[in-house]
Amino acid sequence: MESLEFLNSINDFNAAKQVIAGGVNSPVRAFKSVGGTPLFIAHAKGAYLVDVDNNTYIDFVQSWGPLIFGHCDKDIEEAVVQTAKKGLSFGAPTPLETALAKEVISIMEGIEKIRFVSSGTEATMSAIRLARAYTKREDIIKFEGCYHGHSDALLVSAGSGLATFGNPSSPGVPSDFTKHTLVATYNDLASAESCIALSEKQGSGVACVILEPIAGNMGLVPSEVEFLEGLRSLCDKHGILLIIDEVMSGFRASLSGSQEFYKVRGDLTTFGKVIGGGMPVGAFGGSAEIMDLLSPNGAVYQAGTLSGNPVAMAAGLVALQKLRANPKVYKHLESLALQLTNGLKELCASFKIPLQTCVRGSMFGFFFNANPVKNFQDALKSDTKMYAAFHQGMLNSGVYFAPSQFESGFICATMDSKMIDEVLQKAQIVLQEISRV
Ligand SMILES: *Cc1c(COP(=O)(O)O)cnc(C)c1O
Repeated sequence: MESLEFLNSINDFNAAKQVIAGGVNSPVRAFKSVGGTPLFIAHAKGAYLVDVDNNTYIDFVQSWGPLIFGHCDKDIEEAVVQTAKKGLSFGAPTPLETALAKEVISIMEGIEKIRFVSSGTEATMSAIRLARAYTKREDIIKFEGCYHGHSDALLVSAGSGLATFGNPSSPGVPSDFTKHTLVATYNDLASAESCIALSEKQGSGVACVILEPIAGNMGLVPSEVEFLEGLRSLCDKHGILLIIDEVMSGFRASLSGSQEFYKVRGDLTTFGKVIGGGMPVGAFGGSAEIMDLLSPNGAVYQAGTLSGNPVAMAAGLVALQKLRANPKVYKHLESLALQLTNGLKELCASFKIPLQTCVRGSMFGFFFNANPVKNFQDALKSDTKMYAAFHQGMLNSGVYFAPSQFESGFICATMDSKMIDEVLQKAQIVLQEISRV
């Protein structure tokens, strides 16, 4: 197996740790669950990353999803540079916001109006506030293993038992702030029903159910069709708003995110990642009736100094225009994702390593697990030590997978079949070594 030098990354990480909490600005970047030192990146192009030690990697993280055209796409880059020259931020509206809003609305069924924010966290937090205002209820339901950003009410873990009010999953979150959040089991309609019953009996009634239609934050675990459809009917029956969190899957799993795979539409939908083309953009949208409750039309407060930032809007606009002009790109991305996951599956089978794989458009996932993964508890039964060994081996051979078993992988448009073949050749050597241990 090749072995790379990481000396400059090690030095840069040590320097960062002196002045930045944990040395990183988002925890998964620290490589805690796979060991080793986080790569410090010097530059990137297309499918490839180059670290500060001048090692080159094929990049299956793609900034955690946003870069569907790969690094330094020349159209996005050009739009960013030209827009930046006219001023970075005005705190006043520009036509770019309307242009990006129109683009999203033309792609996503069921959205009439939208509002832009700067992150996925803000999008889901604001959508929940709006749902509570609209329904005049306080409880919300989320599913174990789904991630919707780091706002207080969403940092919950399930209490004991199946469907319960959640407990804070992080110190610093008062239990008063999570006492309206019920936690249900993904792909289990009965557990959502129990949560609704519990809220109607003991709580204030459920304002909204929020979920990732194609969960990508416990590894890749899609909703089953009957589950998502059942959830839609359940929400309708109880006057609950369904918030479809497409921050990851939107414009990624397909142009219209989960809408290509399911006929289910959210009352509110949240976006992030690809919508900003690599710049910080989030958004939430829904019917005009609901969205018009937002200030200044309505009384629900929501704001942001850099919301709708022109440079970020320009990047997102070009990304979505390019995707809409070339919807066939998703077939190409999906075929590469399948080539990779099918290849890994065959290799693992030949070494008697259990592997579960999944592809949704340009998103892929694999679990070192003997059984199908349908929810978070299933995912947790995966062999994380084996993932760490695989990750390290691949990194040392110039392949950058997410530094955690519980993340999705991403294909970008500049990858090709030959690159995937090379990755599989490297994987064969790494897996052979792992299987000997
Ligand atoms: C990434 C993500 C978020 C949070 O977005 P940030 O921009 O990191 O705040 C929310 N929901 C989903 C489904 C995500 O994948």
